[in-house]
Amino acid sequence: MRFNITNIKEEQALAEAASCLFLDVWGVTRDYVDIRMPTSQVSPLLDLLPKKLQSSHFALISDLSRAVYDSLPKDSSSSHLLGPKGALDRVHNSLTVSDNLFFMRYHPLKTIMQWMQLLESIFPEHVNYMSIGQSSEGRDIPALRVGRPDIDGGGGRRKTMVITAGLHAREWISTTTANYVAWSLITEFNKDPVITKFLHHFDVVVIPALNPDGMEYSWQTDRLWRKSRQETSLRMCRGYDLDRSFGFGDSSAHRQSDPCSEDYGGEEPFEAVEAAAFAKWAREQTEKNNVQFVGMVDYHSYSQQVLFPYAYSCAVEPPNLENLEELAAGIAKTIRVSTGEAYSVSPACDAALMADMTKLASRSRINEGAGSVMDWFYHDMNAHFSYQIKLRDHGLYGFLLPDEEIIPTGREMFYVMNQDFNISQDEQRQTTTVTFAGELNRGDKAEPELTFLELPLKEGQLNNKMAGFYRSGYARADDTKGYAATTHM
Ligand SMILES: [Zn+2]
Repeated sequence: MRFNITNIKEEQALAEAASCLFLDVWGVTRDYVDIRMPTSQVSPLLDLLPKKLQSSHFALISDLSRAVYDSLPKDSSSSHLLGPKGALDRVHNSLTVSDNLFFMRYHPLKTIMQWMQLLESIFPEHVNYMSIGQSSEGRDIPALRVGRPDIDGGGGRRKTMVITAGLHAREWISTTTANYVAWSLITEFNKDPVITKFLHHFDVVVIPALNPDGMEYSWQTDRLWRKSRQETSLRMCRGYDLDRSFGFGDSSAHRQSDPCSEDYGGEEPFEAVEAAAFAKWAREQTEKNNVQFVGMVDYHSYSQQVLFPYAYSCAVEPPNLENLEELAAGIAKTIRVSTGEAYSVSPACDAALMADMTKLASRSRINEGAGSVMDWFYHDMNAHFSYQIKLRDHGLYGFLLPDEEIIPTGREMFYVMNQDFNISQDEQRQTTTVTFAGELNRGDKAEPELTFLELPLKEGQLNNKMAGFYRSGYARADDTKGYAATTHM
């Protein structure tokens, strides 16, 4: 059921009522809130709402179980019956017959892991398959490291970007999108000069199923399962919300303490096994593996939003807010240009207002977004850029996005990687830059990571090159001083 909202009061009323009735909130944007509920709960909910809201709603998906059934892969039983070898053959065929065949439909975890291993064996020189840790039920959390340092790459830290997906089990499109981006990077290496250069300078670690237990459960038992499958203090309510389980911006006052809640992140940070495994892996990378994390993108669905830190509070500004905002706007623009889809841009705290009564009481927008991986990675791992992108759609199918949307969604996210995170401009930049010890622009973070460029600018003028940087979100133009500080990723 979708409620159109026009102000924060309505949002609060809705949040309160939904929480009262233990309803599952699917999506929150500035314009609407989507709530999943049994028909029997509709009138109790409406009774709790102000008059205006009682009429500004409609059923987005009226028969959910039917929609779930319709969305399920019709030949899934045959794919289950295929042993590992059979599945692998299918994957192999997909890879040889057509690049995109693998992305014609969703796949269960097992097939995805086999596909990932196959990629490593086909492209051993720039693809590495690994497990970053184990889930609470003992499954591997699979990952691909994609990249190939130049031979003369120097001894510096390896700049690395991380793509995570599948933190919420039912958001299948996030997993396929991470895989699509990985696949595109891998197969464009040594073909597309921009991607080739990119992968010489950066590693990209893609973790498409950070919640493998939940994903499996969503395939086998409950398509709309969100959390992990770890036991909580309440036996009948399993699972942690992995995107509330990280240790930043955390405060018990803002923590959902009911294990039955869809947003339950644990009593303490990192109680969730998968969140702890990811954090341990990331720390080891920087401490022992000479990695420098520069950015993260965490895919979710749905509602087409590009969200940036912080999620835990709107009252605190991230140090390089302007960079984050600009690149977010750049990402949304790239998507619009590439596929015509509209993605909105906002701080994550804006999009996570619902369901926290302490916040409602204090009337601040501090909220249940505490403990997100995006915030933690941004702050604790010093990643200059960190985003959560909520993928397609706007709610027509919601989490049950059809197969046909897999490739277009993957494509628009690959465009983003190609356009907004590429470093082709950096190459040109090096020929003309003069290191300039200027002052920092407001909001710039991590001084040593910044390179200052002196550009041949007249006051109030952007030359093409700079406009390019500016558009790409890399640079802050300071027109009056005529130089830009740009992140040296
Ligand atoms: Zn999610």
